Amino acid sequence: MGFDTAALLPLSDALASMLERLDCSCDAESVALPQALGRILADDILSPLSVPPFDNAAMDGYAVRLTDLAAGTPLKVAGKAFAGQPYQGEWPAGHCIRIMTGAPVPLGTEAVVMQEETTAEGDKVLFLSQPVVGQNVRRRGEDIREGASVLGAGTRLSPRELPLLASLGIATLRVRRPLKVAIFSTGDELKPVGAPLAHGDIYDSNRYGVRAMLARMGVDCLDLGIIPDDPAALRAAFLKADSEADALITTGGVSVGEADFTKQLLEELGEIGFWKLAIKPGKPFAFGRLPHTWFFGLPGNPVSAMVTFDQLVQPALARLAGQRWTPPLRIEAIASEPLKKSPGRLDFQRGILSQGPDGLTVRSTGSQDSGVFSSLAKANCYIVLEQARGKVATGETVTVEPFGSLLS
Ligand code: AMP
Ligand code: MG
Repeated sequence: MGFDTAALLPLSDALASMLERLDCSCDAESVALPQALGRILADDILSPLSVPPFDNAAMDGYAVRLTDLAAGTPLKVAGKAFAGQPYQGEWPAGHCIRIMTGAPVPLGTEAVVMQEETTAEGDKVLFLSQPVVGQNVRRRGEDIREGASVLGAGTRLSPRELPLLASLGIATLRVRRPLKVAIFSTGDELKPVGAPLAHGDIYDSNRYGVRAMLARMGVDCLDLGIIPDDPAALRAAFLKADSEADALITTGGVSVGEADFTKQLLEELGEIGFWKLAIKPGKPFAFGRLPHTWFFGLPGNPVSAMVTFDQLVQPALARLAGQRWTPPLRIEAIASEPLKKSPGRLDFQRGILSQGPDGLTVRSTGSQDSGVFSSLAKANCYIVLEQARGKVATGETVTVEPFGSLLS
């Protein structure tokens, strides 16, 4: 792919380079509204009706015409309008109509006076305030006009959007089929949880992190397990992923001295680029493609694997899934303790952001070694320290990125 480079590549360049190559690989399908949670809209949604669909009362009270109130004398009640039971009778002069919240306002209504601003005078109602035209009346289409664009293609549907779609009467909608991603861990030293460890073995933790993040994204996962550092086994796993999935994510085996098998195989089967990213943690990263499948090779170090997934693979998978992706919010906070940092790479240190009497402060979770997973488990944010920046003193302002949906 012509992007092997000895120089450290900025994260933003790596992301742009991937996104340039990727496109949505998921067809559309129809689902019923209750099944649409977490799915990605395939089309723009235009409103088939106005919301609210008719002028209605925003308060319990009385529908009035201003001329009837002009005399300042109590009005008789001509009838009642309830939500779902409109008032359909005559509306003689000198009368008001009792109305409840959500009821269609009778034809000719100029305002609804809330009950608390009236008193009963025998069988009549005395109005204690003079309303203005339109007061307490919710107008047809004031929320959404018929034909207006309400949601864009690429929106991932959350509990915020489903009631909106329901309010428009949309019973079925077209969404993208879920992206299918194969994953495996590489390394002779790795054992699955539940198995005993021999000397030199460690538990495969990355696969559980990657699986969990894919689940949060609504991606279907094909878990191919642990593949030993063996060319034949790796080849079989690459071929299986290529025939069954839209993308393959591996962890391990992409660092200098380890990448040889992966490199040879991917060069033979497809195309591959190895990047040394100018970020910490997460330096080695591979991106390429098999004949039918995109390939993302994450570093083996557990923190690096999670951070590169969150920062780089997440937007790339969103693109493949047809999901519109917006970069995470970054905010400023005051460092409540010194932070170690050397210029040269963009650091994603793991921190704890808290709200104190003097505003937002952030501290480190301790050792920032990429093998120390507890530094990530304890954190609630990244402390994003710019590439050129050196060490940070207590009291300095730093950029913080609260963990998004994948890590929360
Ligand atoms: P590698 O990128 O394969 O050179 O691995 C770098 C470091 O991460 C080594 O210490 C590996 O043992 C460790 N590692 C690799 N894969 C995993 C994994 N799936 N779970 C936990 N640690 C891993
Ligand atoms: Mg390895």
